[in-house]
Amino acid sequence: MRTVPDYFGSLVFDESVMRSRLPKETWRSLRKTIRDGETLDIEVANVVANAMKDWAVEKGATHFTHWFQPMTGITAEKHDSFISPAEYGKVIMEFSGKELVKGEPDASSFPSGGLRSTFEARGYTAWDPTSCAFIKNKALCIPTAFCSYGGEALDQKTPLLRSMAAINRQALRVLKLFGNSDVTSVKTTVGPEQEYFLIDTELYDKRKDLIYTGRTLFGCKPPKGQELEDHYFGSIKPRVAAFMEELNEELWKLGIFAKTEHNEVAPAQHELAPIFTTTNIATDHNQLTMEMMQKVAKKHGLVCLLHEKPFAGVNGSGKHNNWSISTNTGVNLLEPGDTPHENAQFLLFLCAVIKSVDDYQDLLRISVASSGNDHRLGANEAPPAVVSIFVGSDLNELLESMINGRTYGAKAREHIKIGVDVLPRFPQDTTDRNRTSPFAFTGNKFEFRMPGSSCSVALPNIVLNTAVAESLKQFADTLEKADDFTCALNELIKNTIREHKRIIFNGNGYDEAWISEAAKERGLLNLKTTPDCLPYFLHEKNVRLFTQHKVLSEVEMHSRYEIMVENYCKMLNIEALTMIEMARRDILPAILIYMKELGDTAFSKKSLTAAVDCDFEEKTIAKLSSLASTIFYSTETLKNSLCALKEITDMQKQAMEYKDKIIVEMQELRTAVDEAECITAQRYWPYPSYGELLFGVR
Ligand code: ADP
Ligand code: MG
Repeated sequence: MRTVPDYFGSLVFDESVMRSRLPKETWRSLRKTIRDGETLDIEVANVVANAMKDWAVEKGATHFTHWFQPMTGITAEKHDSFISPAEYGKVIMEFSGKELVKGEPDASSFPSGGLRSTFEARGYTAWDPTSCAFIKNKALCIPTAFCSYGGEALDQKTPLLRSMAAINRQALRVLKLFGNSDVTSVKTTVGPEQEYFLIDTELYDKRKDLIYTGRTLFGCKPPKGQELEDHYFGSIKPRVAAFMEELNEELWKLGIFAKTEHNEVAPAQHELAPIFTTTNIATDHNQLTMEMMQKVAKKHGLVCLLHEKPFAGVNGSGKHNNWSISTNTGVNLLEPGDTPHENAQFLLFLCAVIKSVDDYQDLLRISVASSGNDHRLGANEAPPAVVSIFVGSDLNELLESMINGRTYGAKAREHIKIGVDVLPRFPQDTTDRNRTSPFAFTGNKFEFRMPGSSCSVALPNIVLNTAVAESLKQFADTLEKADDFTCALNELIKNTIREHKRIIFNGNGYDEAWISEAAKERGLLNLKTTPDCLPYFLHEKNVRLFTQHKVLSEVEMHSRYEIMVENYCKMLNIEALTMIEMARRDILPAILIYMKELGDTAFSKKSLTAAVDCDFEEKTIAKLSSLASTIFYSTETLKNSLCALKEITDMQKQAMEYKDKIIVEMQELRTAVDEAECITAQRYWPYPSYGELLFGVR
């Protein structure tokens, strides 16, 4: 039998394949490029390309594609075949270094947020040798960055790689001060836990809302929801188990470390967590995972819903972004160490994260902003829209004692003096119990819980990497100048905790009292929706952050801002139009048929004997008739509002109008429809019910 180690990574052109297939010299140059970012000679690229092609063809590939992540949130690829004409009407398979290193897809069909009008429509893709090529659908996929002809980033990967370079630069400065001369590179690591729903394809196909928008726009609550919590970690149904088995196999072939899988809180909801890896690879892998989930689900007669909120009243789906920093010598910088020296270093990195999250709350909120995620954040199931950090009681006590000069710990030890005392280990299980915090320290990493399930983890990590790079830069600036390092370090840590303590909150994040305390007493931001938070993106301090660390230029920031606002408006426009179409063409006609049946029944009953009571028929008709009227007028209102909105040219104002007006009107329409659904005969209702969708997979 084929075991997992036999086929793990079998579709990846990874280090071991490169080592065995490339001439020694070529491998050495390529490794330099991968590890140290040195540019690759075209001669070397030719040899690598040829070896890649031979390997891919042996594995059955016929095409190659540059695989990239434009600002659509999903991946893009344009396939070219390897074939090249040869003598006597034959073909040979060819792939050159030039084709490997650079591609020129037409950029005009991808969002550019205004960059298109200023620059040429063409764009180019450039090979990212730090992420391995792989085979998917008989195509050799080459991970690439995607830029405009002027060099502006049009994708997620470019700024992500830049942000990794930024944190590397600053972390190395700090590590040097601690005497770590052996460390030559620092990388952030990410393990994204992915939540999703699985529903039956046949039912999905009957719902226009799911097809057009990824979520249900109507649907009354089923008698049973998630209140029994019998689904959480429950036994996995055979069809789902078969799906998971095949998904794992596909992911493993692609070298993705899919590790744990379980049922989530809501019925039909599941989660997959991989073993963490370097951030840009984790980002590529998460995109691939989402794609594979959808593909494998189809084969099993299922549809995988990645939307943040497919069903109202049922838990939504998130993507917990576990994040840490580690050195090329294998040290996790967010892991408390065994010696006082290591602990001082740990505390400084911890402080860097605390400071960054406080200074850039707005950017973190923006990094997860989408119309879909707005349904989750603050809705008593996901963390609130207020960003805060959970550090756990042990660590909190320690931080407090440092600024108050109190003794720390039960053993009434000496005051904590950095560089002198030994910190206790913080076991995972005492730190990992708060599920309501948006940003939780979980023993040796931070778990950012705000990202939505469909979100690319690129932006959250771009923000984290860059913001922490900035704190580390400020720390290094101070410490490099200090005469007495230990003394300066002590002061720096204390001051940082004092200044940024307001961001630490260890209580229940779902509590109303916290939301008001956060705003009133602590002055933390509560940016509830996407249109509320997006304008902060271009605030001066944020532009300064990204430009200083060379992660995004001002032009690139404007373009990204525009894309985000536009996406929000477009998504809501589609949702509103879908509701109108469903209400007018399917729901109102269904209600009419049922009313007619009720009317006919009452009429025939009465014609038999006048004494008969037709209360049920008459009352239901009256109710449905009034609801039908509300539904009709609500669609009219919604349609008019959408028309009026088109007149607003300022995109930010338009987004606000969607939020303040359109969403409210959509909700009014929904309320009437859901009420009608509850009293209309099931056989006439045009769509599968919530009950069927959520409990349909056996
Ligand atoms: P939980 O559901 O309790 O949050 P899981 O085991 O499901 O825990 O997920 C933890 C995630 O954190 C995994 O994806 C794991 O790989 C990741 N992780 C662990 N250590 C690190 C680290 N140092 N850096 C980044 N991610 C990490
Ligand atoms: Mg988690």
